[in-house]
Amino acid sequence: MAEAHGVLVIGEVSDEHLHNTTREVLAAGRALADQAGTTLAVGLAGTSLAAAASEALHAGADHVYTVERPALLDGAIELHLAALAAICRSVAPAMILLGRTAQGRELGPRLACRLGVGLLQDCLRVELDTASGHLMATRPVYGGNVLARVRCMATPQVAALRPKAYAPLTPDATRQGTVTPVSVALETSKARVTIVRQARQDSAGVKLEDASIVVSGGRGLGGPEPFRDLEELAGMLGAALGASRAAVDAGWVPGNWQVGLTGKTITPDLYITVGISGANQHMAGCSGAKVIVAINKDAEANIFREARYGVVGDWQAVLPAFMEAIRGLK
Ligand SMILES: Cc1cc2nc3c(=O)[nH]c(=O)nc-3n(C[C@H](O)[C@H](O)[C@H](O)COP(=O)(O)OP(=O)(O)OC[C@H]3O[C@@H](n4cnc5c(N)ncnc54)[C@H](O)[C@@H]3O)c2cc1C
Repeated sequence: MAEAHGVLVIGEVSDEHLHNTTREVLAAGRALADQAGTTLAVGLAGTSLAAAASEALHAGADHVYTVERPALLDGAIELHLAALAAICRSVAPAMILLGRTAQGRELGPRLACRLGVGLLQDCLRVELDTASGHLMATRPVYGGNVLARVRCMATPQVAALRPKAYAPLTPDATRQGTVTPVSVALETSKARVTIVRQARQDSAGVKLEDASIVVSGGRGLGGPEPFRDLEELAGMLGAALGASRAAVDAGWVPGNWQVGLTGKTITPDLYITVGISGANQHMAGCSGAKVIVAINKDAEANIFREARYGVVGDWQAVLPAFMEAIRGLK
């Protein structure tokens, strides 16, 4: 690689538009690039990238590098990796950021390995370590019990950011930048993984990650049926439904409802939890909520340490009264 310079964001494209998490990562990258007095680029691999490329410039990038090929249509990871690694070699960035999305989790370790460096996973914050000029990140360790500040020693420094850790910048349609295609030989015949089928699980109503109100249930609900009550409550509030991992693991609700370290990260204005103990791994996904309201029968439950408002009691008694009060307000 040429001498490393600048910050490169590994972008994601969804339905021909820039993925929301990429906008968030661009906000982090913009701040980092400004701090280092350098440029911010984004790498995009896929098909039909024109719209996403302009959106990336509007969202803070100075330069866009693209590999646009039909072979990248189905999202096969090895071909994406080859395309994005080619962009990295061409750009020779000092720092690389990506989102810890489903694709980012597959891509990040592979890309770092291919570049011969380590990967900082699940970062909440990235900044410049002024002493070394390298990237410094804040990330949870020991299941979210401790926040560690870690510095990369090698170059490029690669960090995967937790979704919702940063708010995207307000798009600025007047921002200009360059869009450069990168050429790479994609050896489709050598791909060891082929995508056989892709299924999209659409969630009805408000999307959990984007909802301003979320109602979540946990093991304390005792089974799948009480989630119908939560569904009714969510309907009254225009809220999305979530769950703890215990409820998901029990098979009471689908996996894409899970909030937490190994589930979704949410940042709603209001988060109502029912029968959730508030384990650190759960809180890792909802600590960005502005107001947490907890219903739990155990006054010592950890959730009450984080909740602004709490009701100590059996949800079967509390929830109907709570819903009646909301009906009254309406
Ligand atoms: C590596 C790792 C990753 C993990 N990732 C996640 C994750 O992403 N998300 C996640 O949620 N968890 C995750 N977990 C699991 C986590 O540690 C907890 O086990 C889980 O969050 C507990 O779910 P819960 O609060 O529903 O159940 P419990 O901890 O069993 O809590 C149930 C609560 O319900 C209350 N309750 C019981 N009956 C009633 C009633 N009638 N009325 C009112 N309250 C009642 C109880 O007092 C209790 O506080 C992870 C764990 C590990 C090790």
